[in-house]
Amino acid sequence: MKLFKSIKNYILDPAKDFKERNFVLLTMVAGIAVFLAMIADILLGENIVEIIILGATATSGPIVSWLVIKKHWVRQAGIFMAFMTVFFVLPIAFFFGGGLYGGAVIWIAFAFLYIGLIVEGGWRRFFLLAIVVITSVEFYLTFYKSYLIIGPHTKRMMFMDTLVAIILVGLLIYMTVMTQNMLFIAQNEQAKEYSKQVEELNRSQNSFFSNMSHEIRTPINTIIGLNEMILREEVSDEVAEDAANIQAAGKMLLHLINDILDMSKLESGQMQLTNVAYNPGNMLSDIVGMLWLRAKDKGLEFHIDVAHDIPSELYGDEIRIKQILINILNNAIKYTGQGSVTLSIQCEKKEDGIAYIVYSVTDTGMGIKKEDIPYLFTAFKRVDEGTNRHIEGTGLGLSIVKQLLDVMGGSITVNSIYTKGSTFVVSIPQKILNDKEIGELDMEERHKLNRREEYKKRFEAPDAKVLVVDDNGSNLLVVQKLLRDTKVQLDSVSSGAEALKKTLDTEYHVIFMDHLMPEMDGIECHKRIRTQTGGLSRNSKIVALTANAGPESRILYEKEGFNGYLVKPVSGEALERELYRLLPKDIVMSLGDEEEVIEETMSWMGLGNKKKSIAITSESIADLPREIIERYDIATLPHRVYTENGVFKDGIEIETKGLLAYMENKDNKVETEAPGVEEHEAFFAKQLSGANNVVHIVLSSKVTKSGCRDAMEAARAFDNVTVIDSGHLSSGQGLLVIEACRLAEEGLTVPEIVSELEKIKRKIHTSFIVDSLEFLARSNQVSDKISGLMKAFMARPTLVMKNGKMGVGRIFFGTRENAWKHYIDSCLTDSDITDKRMLFVTYVGLTKRDIDKIRKIIEEKASFEVIHFMQASPVIAVNCGPGTFGLLYLKK
Ligand code: ADP
Repeated sequence: MKLFKSIKNYILDPAKDFKERNFVLLTMVAGIAVFLAMIADILLGENIVEIIILGATATSGPIVSWLVIKKHWVRQAGIFMAFMTVFFVLPIAFFFGGGLYGGAVIWIAFAFLYIGLIVEGGWRRFFLLAIVVITSVEFYLTFYKSYLIIGPHTKRMMFMDTLVAIILVGLLIYMTVMTQNMLFIAQNEQAKEYSKQVEELNRSQNSFFSNMSHEIRTPINTIIGLNEMILREEVSDEVAEDAANIQAAGKMLLHLINDILDMSKLESGQMQLTNVAYNPGNMLSDIVGMLWLRAKDKGLEFHIDVAHDIPSELYGDEIRIKQILINILNNAIKYTGQGSVTLSIQCEKKEDGIAYIVYSVTDTGMGIKKEDIPYLFTAFKRVDEGTNRHIEGTGLGLSIVKQLLDVMGGSITVNSIYTKGSTFVVSIPQKILNDKEIGELDMEERHKLNRREEYKKRFEAPDAKVLVVDDNGSNLLVVQKLLRDTKVQLDSVSSGAEALKKTLDTEYHVIFMDHLMPEMDGIECHKRIRTQTGGLSRNSKIVALTANAGPESRILYEKEGFNGYLVKPVSGEALERELYRLLPKDIVMSLGDEEEVIEETMSWMGLGNKKKSIAITSESIADLPREIIERYDIATLPHRVYTENGVFKDGIEIETKGLLAYMENKDNKVETEAPGVEEHEAFFAKQLSGANNVVHIVLSSKVTKSGCRDAMEAARAFDNVTVIDSGHLSSGQGLLVIEACRLAEEGLTVPEIVSELEKIKRKIHTSFIVDSLEFLARSNQVSDKISGLMKAFMARPTLVMKNGKMGVGRIFFGTRENAWKHYIDSCLTDSDITDKRMLFVTYVGLTKRDIDKIRKIIEEKASFEVIHFMQASPVIAVNCGPGTFGLLYLKK
């Protein structure tokens, strides 16, 4: 009884391994059943061999269970028991217990259940297969070789044996299912209990963190507050330095506590967003105010570029968005030693009242190694610790950023070149409350308005003559006061008519002109000054000074011929900057750092550039016509051409005609090479400054392995660069590029474009007919012998692109013209399958007469909307030689 109790306790003990308990339970129950079957067999006078095997099985159950409990050999025990059952116990019981006329058959059914529960994985499949095979064999032998069944089994014995077996096996199955169910329920209860405990723990951890953070914050506030007082006192340098260090450490600690609190909220899924209506311009201006100084202190340039078309009112968690941006901008400043940090904001698309705002932060700092990029967003993980060891940080920031973005339905991607710099791109969907565009938003200006107290005078120009025209007296007064320190000679008038009187006999260097004025508006007045007969200010620099901030305003004033444009309310610094930019340098005396004034002027000029959502790029060898490159603004990366005179960039530093002339001398060797990883990296980085995503289409990887491989390797550093193996070359590759541009223009996303291009690839026909194989032989692509033979037989082979590989297609004989005709015929036979919008005839070294001939043959055969005759790039020319041309088109 005691033993039974301790076994029961063991089986129900949740602290013990579930598999072991399950095994012991099943084996013990089965053991008892087998033992009872043995007793029954003895009473029925069954075969002694069967009785012995049942007895042995019944005793091995407890022994094996003991090994499982003590030694934890549960896997081995399962295999052993299954092995014994399948290969010994069941066959012996079958053959010695009357075969089909005994109870063994019913025990076989139970064995299926037992094996299914005690062995796992491959072994389970093995034993199940074995039992099926052995059972089939047993049945086969019973039918055909019944003499193998040992001993006579009377009808009475058969009934009794079967009855005992069915009752025992039935009970066994009932108990197995019941106990399995019991274990399952117990296990389930336990899991529930665990999750309750975890929740409880989370709750208490959270309340612990919030209590702790409150508790820690209070003393830190005291430390920072009192320390601030020390800093204000007249103290010794040493004390001041110590106090400054305390201040920095206190702030760092506060920051850390905030991060840990956020982290614990995010991890427990308790981060709630607080959505409010906000003006993105104001939000940005708060951030800029905070980070501008930090960048300046480190000697970094700080640029902000805000697109005009961002809605003026959005709905979302403004505070959290600020936190995300501050984190990324802080990192950019922290991990950049010299150069610049640029924040650019775009509205990628507006859909169903939602604007997808894309913030990208680019720095020229230390960059991130490709292999570290996947770990950037892991909490507490700081990458490249060797280099970063002296830079303060916890590795929490980006993990919080990522999780906050997940909660907001946004995303973050990274593009980085180690040692050169990084760009973090954040996209956040926000509800649009007011779709009026934000317009011209000079963040640098706004920021300076906030920091007016830090203004420093930059220059004086006492000889400069400046006129301000504004119908509002107080506006005139503001400009006068703001420009007072520059000592310029300032006249102010309150109407266009008065302005014209002044300009008739004064040559002003700069005129600030209001737009909306009664009677004569600023645009009209500007025109009249420019055309005033005898007027001395016809060539003056005229700046529109207006309250119109819409995106169209800048375009309007530029079109009208104004030299500049300032939005009211305007700061003294903005006025000064504009004056400095427009005044003749010989009448200006610089007081500050001249470089700085000029540099800031330049950053004003670059505002509001709209980044493309997707840029499609390719290689020089895609052989695209100039008008298509310009129409879609396609950037191409040149391959390299090695000659004995040096290395040249394909299509830029070397052109096909010259190269062919150079190759006329058979001793002149020419080799070509695809760009390497670094060239690709630099190319992608440049493209990403004008686009949020890059889809780069490369030459078939089966033609030149290294090109596609290096492009893909370089793309690992950029989350926003996708490389596509075109599977073609020359204008065949070009056709895929054109299709990609068309899809991007239609507004498809990158994954959509990629999947479409996969289908289009298969529809492109790329083939060439070559005059001779001489050039292919020179680049070792075919043997000299074959080339010679072809020439002797006046054979002109075609090269056809199939599954990304270039192979020799049909061969045409006879005159050049005849071969051409047959080649063109063979391409355009089934004209129904050809997409008639565009045909490329890409050639190497053909004369105008040749081209006309080819055009005529094509036009007789099919009519295309456009036929582009393209001189192939030097790289293609080197490999095919003059007299080559190909028809490249899209099949329907
Ligand atoms: P930390 O507190 O260490 O800055 P973050 O989670 O903000 O933690 O960043 C994780 C790691 O990512 C940093 O330790 C740093 O190695 C790297 N990192 C983040 N931003 C940049 C960047 N702009 N340039 C280079 N490395 C960066």
